[in-house]
Amino acid sequence: AVTLQGVGKSFGDQVVLDDVQLELKAGSVTVLVGPSGAGKSTLLRLINHLERADHGFVTVGGQLVGYRRDGDTLYELAESEIRRRRADVGMVFQSFNLFPHLTALENIIEAPMAVRGIPRVQAERQAADLLERVGLSDKANAYPRQLSGGQQQRIAIARALALQPKVLLFDEPTSALDPELVTEVLSVIEELARSGTTLVIVTHELGFARRVADHVVMMDQGKVIEQGPPDAIFDHPRQQRTADFLAKTL
Ligand code: ATP
Ligand code: MG
Repeated sequence: AVTLQGVGKSFGDQVVLDDVQLELKAGSVTVLVGPSGAGKSTLLRLINHLERADHGFVTVGGQLVGYRRDGDTLYELAESEIRRRRADVGMVFQSFNLFPHLTALENIIEAPMAVRGIPRVQAERQAADLLERVGLSDKANAYPRQLSGGQQQRIAIARALALQPKVLLFDEPTSALDPELVTEVLSVIEELARSGTTLVIVTHELGFARRVADHVVMMDQGKVIEQGPPDAIFDHPRQQRTADFLAKTL
């Protein structure tokens, strides 16, 4: 599970997250929606400690993110321990972020070997399974520039899965794709959703959100303004701001 308790974050004097409380159950699929600037990306970045909360706590799998507690005192973890725990949280970005000088296969095996110390043969065997899972077994030796955006994004998903994360975060994974490539990426994510991986997805693809989400969280101006099952949020929003946002996004 992922929890956020009283999480606040400002950049300068701009409050970007304002006392956010969330509890995302293990194995559940959460879709985060809301207008630009609502704080969605910042919230994801806090979950894998790419960003640090000004106050409040974030936990993943029962462990504090970035800190250890001793009695009432929090101590910041050493960088090596932060890296190790960060491997529990996979992240897939809008812009794929594959290593351009590595093949698809090499992109996938890099972190398992470097972070987890898995031997190459074993990492390659696992990568072959992952390539099959994202439907790209024939592209193992292709470089990112030889792949379409949709294919690159599916490799990025395989790469994130290779660390066997407890939670996988997606920040607008299809926003940079040509419309005809969106479906192939969404199907891979939908498959993951069915397999019981804990997912947190920021997306404007509301049809997809309705199909895969167990839980929808609507944010605006740094606050969670409402949350609930997709039918409740999409068909019967209680907040005018949610209704306005949905009307604009559909
Ligand atoms: P979008 O839908 O456009 O991606 P978002 O909901 O993901 O928006 P965030 O990226 O979390 O929004 O940003 C929330 C606010 O925080 C924005 O006003 C943004 O300008 C500001 N912000 C984010 N990162 C930083 C930073 N590193 N320094 C200063 N301000 C930042
Ligand atoms: Mg964002």
